[in-house]
Amino acid sequence: MGETIVIKVGGSTGIDYDAVCSDLAALVAEGKRAILVHGGSSETNRTAQALGHPPEFITSESGFQSRRTDRETMEIFEMVYCGKMNKMIVEKLQALGVNALGLSGLDGRLLQGPRKKAIRAVVDGRRISIRDDLSGKVEKVNTDLLALLLANGYTPVVSPPALSYENEAINVDGDRAAAAIAEAMEAEALVLLSNVPGLLRSFPDESTLVEVVDAARPEEAMEFAQGRMKVKVLGAVEAVQAGVGRVVLADARVAEPVRRALAGRGTTVQ
Ligand code: ADP
Repeated sequence: MGETIVIKVGGSTGIDYDAVCSDLAALVAEGKRAILVHGGSSETNRTAQALGHPPEFITSESGFQSRRTDRETMEIFEMVYCGKMNKMIVEKLQALGVNALGLSGLDGRLLQGPRKKAIRAVVDGRRISIRDDLSGKVEKVNTDLLALLLANGYTPVVSPPALSYENEAINVDGDRAAAAIAEAMEAEALVLLSNVPGLLRSFPDESTLVEVVDAARPEEAMEFAQGRMKVKVLGAVEAVQAGVGRVVLADARVAEPVRRALAGRGTTVQ
């Protein structure tokens, strides 16, 4: 499957989903096989607020941030990711002539992995341990299912949650899920689109774009990245180390975002 590209489009504000979908449609029309993975974080925050269950975020001891996912949050998360966001993207792609097919990681056991037993977090400077969080990470990708769909002309549109080994829905990071898919499918490229031009040396100054990150020496890049960008850089580095040709972190607020990224406009991790 050397010709497959995996594209992850974030869920932050400012992303131009029309531009992403029409660019993807052009690539599919040229005969590329593409898998689109999407987020939905800002819409989930809005919906959670509207439903009276405001979002909470946890910071791990090592400085990574994640969404606190209790059962009610999982239900809201599924409504937004598997419902609103996924169907919005599938509809846009269908209108562009792409036979898009929406799947969460639960469907057909597409994405599986362990649920976190306990999360050690720092809240108001205090260390606590959270045991009932429905989150985890992707270890296994059902490549047979993706290959079956791609071989028959479907374009998979994938969103979290994943399925735990105990068959529960678990919240997983979208960037790292996309990286796991790219690794398992031996993709030629993984494009991580977000509402920034790539990794910025000094966020939010967009003139400080880091053009290349050496996956063998990611320490400096990890220092520039704050908050959620840390996970993105980590996922990119892991994907390259696992054999994905290259990973590009690029802007999703512009025209032709995928082709720009593939042409090297953004941060290339190699
Ligand atoms: P998405 O949900 O679109 O995948 P994330 O919110 O996970 O995107 O990550 C992108 C965000 O990371 C940016 O919107 C920005 O606020 C933040 N960020 C933190 N540090 C940096 C940095 N050094 N360079 C670029 N973005 C950064």
